[in-house]
Amino acid sequence: MFLVSPNIYEYIPQAVLEVCDTLIANGYQAYLVGGAVRDSLRGEAPKDWDVTTDALPAKVLSLFRKTIPTGIKYGTITVIVQGIPVEVTTFRADGIYRDGRHPENVSFSSNIEADLQRRDFTVNAIAYNPQNREFVDPYGGRRDLKRQLLRAVGDPKERFAEDALRMLRFFRFLATLKFRPHRQTLEAIEPSLIRNISAERIRDELSKLLLAEFPGPTFLTMHRTGLLEEILPEIIRGEGVTQGSYHRFDVLRHSLHAMDNTLPCLDLRWAALLHDVAKPMTRMEDADGIHFYGHDVKGEKITQAILARLRYSNQFTKKVALLVRWHMFAIHAHSTDRALRRFVRKVGKDNALDLMEIRRADILALGRQTTCSGWNHWQILRDRLQEIIDSDATFTVKDLAISGRDVMAALDLPPGPQIGSALDWLLEKVLDDPSLNQKPKLIDLLQSYEKTPLV
Ligand code: ATP
Ligand code: MG
Repeated sequence: MFLVSPNIYEYIPQAVLEVCDTLIANGYQAYLVGGAVRDSLRGEAPKDWDVTTDALPAKVLSLFRKTIPTGIKYGTITVIVQGIPVEVTTFRADGIYRDGRHPENVSFSSNIEADLQRRDFTVNAIAYNPQNREFVDPYGGRRDLKRQLLRAVGDPKERFAEDALRMLRFFRFLATLKFRPHRQTLEAIEPSLIRNISAERIRDELSKLLLAEFPGPTFLTMHRTGLLEEILPEIIRGEGVTQGSYHRFDVLRHSLHAMDNTLPCLDLRWAALLHDVAKPMTRMEDADGIHFYGHDVKGEKITQAILARLRYSNQFTKKVALLVRWHMFAIHAHSTDRALRRFVRKVGKDNALDLMEIRRADILALGRQTTCSGWNHWQILRDRLQEIIDSDATFTVKDLAISGRDVMAALDLPPGPQIGSALDWLLEKVLDDPSLNQKPKLIDLLQSYEKTPLV
């Protein structure tokens, strides 16, 4: 089942071999390292290729025609061969880390062992020489790959103190690789150290963690170490918050299951994780049972605050907050067409089906058997929404067969807010009856608009 492939060579693209050949032909060493070696040994096609060499950055720039000095300060140059980018980094032996995130100075080294020593985990510290097809693996990375064990290179406490982001990378790799944590490495997690790390670096690792096949169990491991509390205290508050008989899990575990159940798209994963984030603060119990009134509206605000704090883009934040805001939508398989059109208009064409995906994950995360007819209803509603979205139905004033200019002419009005109101009024009519969306019909309709008092 699990493969540590001897045929790593066969995975290597020609362009990457060419980069190594050029370096070697000029008297330098060249190794493949990092994720590329790790993933090809696992039988997975690597996403990108990293080459490490003793050639200094200036030399690398001069040896290749197409180069981008991506991270020249840290010795990294992107070499483009046959349109494929290959990251070439000079062997590094990092100096002292005083601030828990950046080495005081980056010194280049002439030996591969020093370079591997500064890397985070044993499975990321395997080098492969494509010329003699031999590995340099001083920390037993291939053995750990076989055992599916994630372990720090050297003393985990020291390594996390040097660069606290490694703690989060530890959980990211546990989830994406589906490995077991090495006990001492896990025990070395020191949550407060993460405060030294910029929000952007945390965001990038969290994003990769959320896109693992099932990030939920790793979130719970991270919670047990106290690190989750540092990064996302809002979701911890759902621990132990019960939700009544439909639900099997507390709010925290329900949210993690919902996240695991959505398609691996970052906006959906975040929306599923945060959809009930305001439940702990809105929970109340009365004779009818447990309620969380307004958790969707409050949840939208909390979502905005969390994603802004993590420096996600405004556009991304807005999208996820919208999904949280409307996740309680109340249309169903037998709602009228008119109700469905109004729903699509309210949430936007692009979000209606995403909300259906969140609903699917939410139902699965109840942790109870859902009846066949329950899923049938979900499917009918989804198909009906798809049909409405694909039709020429009108959802915004821009889709009307009439413009503001036409309204001005028909009503003999100057530009002003009344024109927008008239267009909104027409849109309401068209949502009720799409066949009205023709210019002559809309102009006719405007005659009756004139008669209604303007407010
Ligand atoms: P991915 O498949 O996600 O790209 P990767 O292992 O290539 O995984 P990168 O973040 O691209 O991860 O880093 C490349 C390599 O650089 C790692 O495999 C590791 O050897 C080293 N590395 C990256 N970040 C750190 C760090 N913070 N501390 C120590 N070594 C690191
Ligand atoms: Mg990489």
